[in-house]
Amino acid sequence: MRTADLRSDTVTRPTEAMRQAMYQADVGDDVFGEDPTVNLLERRAAELVGKEAAVFVPSGTMGNQIAVAVHTSPGHEVICEEHSHVVMYEMGTLARFSGCLARAVPTSHGILDWPAISPRLRPASNHFRGTGLISLENTHNFAGGRVYPMETLRSIRAEALAAEVPVHMDGARVFHAAAALGVSLAEIAATADSLTFCLSKGLGAPVGSLLTGDRHFIEEARLMRKALGGGMRQAGVLAAAGLVALEQSPANIPAAHANAKFLAESLAKVPGISVDPAEVETNIVFFDISGTGLTNAEFTGSLREAGVLALGLAPGRIRIVTHQDVDRDDCERAVEVIAATCAGPAIHR
Ligand SMILES: *Cc1c(COP(=O)(O)O)cnc(C)c1O
Repeated sequence: MRTADLRSDTVTRPTEAMRQAMYQADVGDDVFGEDPTVNLLERRAAELVGKEAAVFVPSGTMGNQIAVAVHTSPGHEVICEEHSHVVMYEMGTLARFSGCLARAVPTSHGILDWPAISPRLRPASNHFRGTGLISLENTHNFAGGRVYPMETLRSIRAEALAAEVPVHMDGARVFHAAAALGVSLAEIAATADSLTFCLSKGLGAPVGSLLTGDRHFIEEARLMRKALGGGMRQAGVLAAAGLVALEQSPANIPAAHANAKFLAESLAKVPGISVDPAEVETNIVFFDISGTGLTNAEFTGSLREAGVLALGLAPGRIRIVTHQDVDRDDCERAVEVIAATCAGPAIHR
């Protein structure tokens, strides 16, 4: 039985082209700056997002936390959305490594705007350390892959510049944001001082993320990467797959978005499931199973038996994510399996 793994877009396997490139990669010691493939990947990434420089890091978490550490000093507040990855899923590193405090802002759909940010902004004074950074997540994972509208980003950028507060973008899935809006990565990246994106999510590479920014910022970021234990040696074998991912994988994103839309529209018709297809803008679909009477474990367990993997991320709240290793047939089968599970809850208790 073929498994449709919809838990995350991190589950993709490297393509044949990636494996070939990894095998043939020219390598050196990257801590000495001598890995030609890593250097090429960093140049290519910087070019793509229109920044001066980039540094290859093992994970998106490390990229984000290096950015926080470089932009801030201990005691600073970091304004971010309440369900953002930097505060929810990075092991408290904001506090542990940078000594920062999250000013987590509630929103209805994960997207901050200046009216939400400005009341939380605090200039340093005799009484408090003040705001050190604004961090934006684009697309927003926990909000279901929501995309920042360009006007919102530009307005935050302009106001933050005036307030002299740097902006970091957690763009783990920024390629998806660009595809959804039909804009270039550089247009999005221009609204932030620094940007992280993942090669290992929707782009299908096995490992790695890039942190991008101006030359001085990236020099500091390299030191922080070493401090966090992220200095890799012959990392060209990984960078080689990343270069293929940058070249070939963005073309697969529109299909992933269409499949997510298909899943949301189909699941909206299944009794017991609640989902608004209009809220699905990219490759992530959250749906509510409260109406089925099943627990998350019963629901995902039943799916698993039929070869469909989904993730329960909050009570009654299930996430599925499309990517280049699932096709329309997999999605159609997932809908059938979910409908069957919802139709026969009694047998699973
Ligand atoms: C996955 C993800 C990250 C980074 O995760 P790693 O597993 O550390 O690569 C960061 N931000 C968002 C929004 C993510 O979804």
